[in-house]
Formats: sequence, structure tokens, C-alpha cells
Amino acid sequence: MKITGTTKLYGLFGTPVEHSMSPAMYNYCFEKWNLDCRYLAFDVPRERTEDAVKAFRTLGMKGANVTMPCKQAVIPYLDWVSPAVTLSGACNTIVNDNGTLKGYITDGEGYVMNLQTHGMDIQGKKITLLGAGGAATAIQVQALLDGASAIWVFNKKDAFWDFAQKKIRELQEAFPNQEIRLYDLEDSRLLKAKIQDSDVLTNATRVGMAPLENSSLIQDMSLFRESLLVTDCVYNPRKTRLLKDAEKNGSRTADGLGMLLYQGAAAVKLYTGQDMPVDEIREEFF
Ligand code: NAD
Repeated sequence: MKITGTTKLYGLFGTPVEHSMSPAMYNYCFEKWNLDCRYLAFDVPRERTEDAVKAFRTLGMKGANVTMPCKQAVIPYLDWVSPAVTLSGACNTIVNDNGTLKGYITDGEGYVMNLQTHGMDIQGKKITLLGAGGAATAIQVQALLDGASAIWVFNKKDAFWDFAQKKIRELQEAFPNQEIRLYDLEDSRLLKAKIQDSDVLTNATRVGMAPLENSSLIQDMSLFRESLLVTDCVYNPRKTRLLKDAEKNGSRTADGLGMLLYQGAAAVKLYTGQDMPVDEIREEFF
């Protein structure tokens, strides 16, 4: 990779970042397209978010992805944010548009694009969503923007509950013609009824990843059926317990790696206008 006096810098802000696949993914695209651009990961703790954005401006960086714990903290330092950022309260992509720093969130787009590649257009669809944290909020917002007719969110009454109540109330007000509701995950009868009425079931909790890699929130195998697309945000392991159970019992499935790749593809599109070779990257790096 040749680096010159005109090479443009892109990066990742957050911590920890040392195991991130983003530098490999984005540099692969830059190299493939012969772009004079390079991408590095920068370890930025939450309290240094403002400094990172100042450095971005000073150095004339062209773009950056933002990961935890800076996704919310970065918003006040940007010049413009997308409707999805305003609605979700989080930003994962900064684009330098001739000196104007624009903030986007592509996690929800990655989710919707992943569904599309599995033959599911979200418009008019009903979704049961397990979880109300960061990934779930991005999904709620994008699914509403893209015309989902109903989103039934189930969460534990844990530390996320109060935030979820407030956020879902706000979203219901912003999208009065679509339905979004929050329910207690403990209410297994209601959960069953909602899954039976859904086109998509998505897990956006941490259940399924270490140390809960052998767990799933769905115990009733009779809920799986051919017409239900079951998706997981967890991408490590790729095939979670939920996806294995769903597959074994006749549902179609889409894994979390797809969502991860397509949120990257959406960011690359914002950076370069080009379409990331998703299948090539999947084979090369994952
Ligand atoms: P978060 O910490 O913001 O939210 C965690 C969620 O999990 C909350 O809803 C919480 O109530 C729920 N939860 C935690 N432990 C639980 C338990 N024992 N039982 C039931 N619910 C429980 O996390 P996040 O950033 O939203 O990430 C959630 C998952 O999604 C993680 O596995 C993360 O790696 C994955 N993720 C994937 C992508 C992708 O592109 N595929 C993007 C973001 C996050």
C-alpha cells in the first residue's frame, strides 16, 4: 500500500478497538478501488471524544466510524446529524463533507440490508425484537423509517428498562401510523402470541454471546416456522443457539455477521459512493 503526501485518512474511534475488523475491511476496499485513502483504529475513551473530533477536524480526516463508548458522546461535536441519529441518540459514522462534519448511524441500515439479502423487505412487516439496548434502538429506528408496520420489543426489567420506555414512547410519537410497544420479557404468553403474529424475530440482546453462548431466550420450539425469519445481532459465535434451534425447527435464519458487514457497507457507501464487495470481504476476513 503506497502512502503519499495526499493520502486521505479515515479511522475508528472508541475503546477497545485493537480486535476490530474495520481497518482490514475498509483498507481492503480502498486498495481494491485504488483509492489514495487509509484507515486506522484509534483508541479513544469516552472522555476524550471531543478531543478526537477536534483532531479529526484539525487533521482534515475524511471519515471515521465511532464505536462504544463514544457513539452517544460524539453527537454534540458534529455539525449535522441524520434523522436516524437524532431518533436513536447514537452515531457510528462521521463524514467530512468539505469541512462540515456529518453524523450517521448505519447499524439499523445494516440490519435492514441483511434482511433484504434474505428476501425480506421490511415495509409493512411485523417484528418481535428481543432487547432494547444500542443495537436494538438502531434497529427500531431504521425499521420504522423503512415502513415496518409493528415492532414489539421485549426486554428484561433491568438497567435498560427505563431508557427503553422513554425511547419507545418518543418513537411512537414520531411514527404515529406505525406501532411500537415495549413489553416485559418475563411475559411468556404475550411473547408467544407476538412471535406467532410476526414476520421476523430478532435477538438484539447479549444472550447468545459469551458468557451466555449456549443460551437462547426462546425455549418453545413450536414457535419456529417456515414463514418466520429469525435473525440474531450476535455475530460471535456466528451460529448462535437461537439460530441453531430456529434452523432445526424449520425457520429461515440470518446471522449477525451479515448485519455487521452491511453496516460497514453502508458506511463505505457514505465515504466513497461505492458498493462494498460484501461476499468477498466475508470470505477474506471472516
Ligand atoms: P447493549 O449493552 O446496549 O444492550 C444489551 C441488551 O441485552 C439489553 O437489551 C439488555 O437488557 C439485554 N440483556 C443483557 N443480558 C441479558 C440477559 N441475561 N437476558 C435478557 N436480556 C439481556 O448491547 P448492544 O450494543 O445493543 O449489543 C447487543 C448484542 O448485539 C451484542 O452481542 C453485540 O455484539 C451485538 N451487536 C451486533 C451488531 C452487528 O452489526 N451485528 C451491532 C451492534 C451490536
